Amino acid sequence: MEPPPDVRLLVVLDRPVAVYSGMVPGFVAGDYPMHALEIEVLPLARRAGAGVILAAARDIDPVRHEISFEGRPRLRYDLASINVGSTVRGLDLPGVSKHALATRPIGHFIDQIDAQVESFVTRNRPARVLVVGGGAAGMELACTLDARLRAAGVTPALGVVSGDRQLLGGTRALTRRAAAAEAEARGIGVTLERRVVHVDDAGVIVETTRPGSTDGQDRLPADLVVWATGAAPSAFPEGRGVGRLATDEQGFLEVRDTLQTTGFDDVFAAGDCARLVDHRWVPRAGVYAVRQGPILDHNLRAHLRGQALKPYRPQRDFLSLLHLGEGRALGSKWGFAVRGAGVLRLKDWIDRRFMSRFQILDESGRPRPDLAGLGAMAGSASRSRSPDGTGADPGGAHEDGMPCGGCAAKLGAQPLTQALAELPAAAHDASVLLGLDARDDVAATRNAAGDTTLHNVDVIRAFCDDPWLVGRVAASNAVSDLYAKGGRPRYAQAVIGLPDIDPAGSQELLFQTLSGVREILDTLGVTLLGGHTTIGDGLTVGLSVTGEGPDEQALMRQAGARPGDALLLSQPLGTGVVLAADMRGLARADWVEAAHTVMQHTNEIGSRLAD
Ligand SMILES: Cc1cc2nc3c(=O)[nH]c(=O)nc-3n(C[C@H](O)[C@H](O)[C@H](O)COP(=O)(O)OP(=O)(O)OC[C@H]3O[C@@H](n4cnc5c(N)ncnc54)[C@H](O)[C@@H]3O)c2cc1C
Repeated sequence: MEPPPDVRLLVVLDRPVAVYSGMVPGFVAGDYPMHALEIEVLPLARRAGAGVILAAARDIDPVRHEISFEGRPRLRYDLASINVGSTVRGLDLPGVSKHALATRPIGHFIDQIDAQVESFVTRNRPARVLVVGGGAAGMELACTLDARLRAAGVTPALGVVSGDRQLLGGTRALTRRAAAAEAEARGIGVTLERRVVHVDDAGVIVETTRPGSTDGQDRLPADLVVWATGAAPSAFPEGRGVGRLATDEQGFLEVRDTLQTTGFDDVFAAGDCARLVDHRWVPRAGVYAVRQGPILDHNLRAHLRGQALKPYRPQRDFLSLLHLGEGRALGSKWGFAVRGAGVLRLKDWIDRRFMSRFQILDESGRPRPDLAGLGAMAGSASRSRSPDGTGADPGGAHEDGMPCGGCAAKLGAQPLTQALAELPAAAHDASVLLGLDARDDVAATRNAAGDTTLHNVDVIRAFCDDPWLVGRVAASNAVSDLYAKGGRPRYAQAVIGLPDIDPAGSQELLFQTLSGVREILDTLGVTLLGGHTTIGDGLTVGLSVTGEGPDEQALMRQAGARPGDALLLSQPLGTGVVLAADMRGLARADWVEAAHTVMQHTNEIGSRLAD
């Protein structure tokens, strides 16, 4: 499961929760709650020894070995694997994005479908639903929506529109016949060989060859249009990079049997986004994507070791199980097709078993006991360096077992005070307003003209795998103490501790970290004057910040609060708990994302409150 030693593995992910498409029709039918379909990728990646960058990749430049993003610096790689899936065909047709509910992104689809069903129930009138696309997904969604609406007491008028000649076009005769019979028995209208050219709030417009049609178009009315038109290439890669990757006529990335792209040995692609040049017939289905997984894993490792790669051999047929709603499914393989409750029980068993291998946390976010021992990061720390080189792992556990890496990774007040007390008293310096004696968060000095200067130094250890984020949080944290004193930060110097890795890795880590630091400082008008690097155990980011402070009388001190004083919290508490859980692979992504967001806020409001 873990990457080979000395390999830093990063997963770049636009959405931290992956939805298992195989159970989506069951969700639509009302058989599963949403969490049954969801895989929290963050804890899974932690256990696999991988770092996670939560951002949508925009493009890849296979010549420069760079992946670019919107709003954050590019990432360098030695070896890349593209697994971005697909989107739906025809989203650019007039009105589709605005008026139709597309099956991709699948997370958005499942978020919306419940609300749609609910609105039909509330309005208490027949629901006209058109599913555009007569493939497996379209057929399943038409049947399961029909079942769901009926179960909710709504009279549905379901229709499927397809440009193909038959329902389930690419399947064998018995399967197609079973699908047609199912649709007929359920009263689901099927309109074939018609292409939808426009969608609006009243339904869809299809091209027609109907005699008597003046403009060659027909209108099919609908209250809800579900867009399930088959796979199209996803937005990544944009293809602007020098030496773009070869694609087929539709835009899917061309790959060899080894899953390497045709032009670049060090860029792999698998799943829906790839087109196997020697097996162009392979459909875009999860069963193929899943079976490519072990070959991809083997070949990525073999490529790193300079060993022989294995070819992926797609299976000619697979067991297809389509959810029909009403407690039944349609199963087909080797040209045979069966419908019934037993088929759905089989599908349910297969799907639940599949999901149980990946769902580390239960619905409430608690670790599932059967997976508690999974992976290297479960339980106490076992490794000294994180896969991405940031050193973000539970290696620095405190005695109470609480790992810490961020702001909490510092000496407690008591040993600090005692150590300082043993030092000889400092000579009196009239220019010092807040110095060692004051034991404050920030030091303050005054020049001959009476102007106050604030000084602060803060260091944090990497608390996650993303050095850019660590840099942003370190900078926000360091300037915040000055704001809390009613001051304005002006200058900063950075002391960056880097892990002992190869020079190229260190360079990349430093670039990412300082990009994050600079972004925050630049926005606030704080100039980074310079700094220093050290090589050590993991990534640490220290910033010494100076700035203008208020007059001596207006200078707020840490001490002096009295019982009855109002306590204003400028940010929520509890980020440390979430980070500790994340480092152990026990935190849900929405908690972690919320914590990261809060940590990038500066305490500027403190300055305004002080005015
Ligand atoms: C309603 C429906 C039902 C289906 N049912 C079945 C079924 O029963 N059986 C079956 O075999 N197939 C089914 N499929 C097809 C199946 O979903 C796909 O073939 C399968 O998901 C492909 O897997 P993948 O890993 O290539 O892509 P995906 O599963 O789509 O995963 C791609 C991942 O990349 C992420 N990503 C995308 N773009 C970026 C970016 N720019 N930066 C970072 N991350 C990015 C996505 O968030 C996602 O996590 C169904 C499809 C639909 C729509």
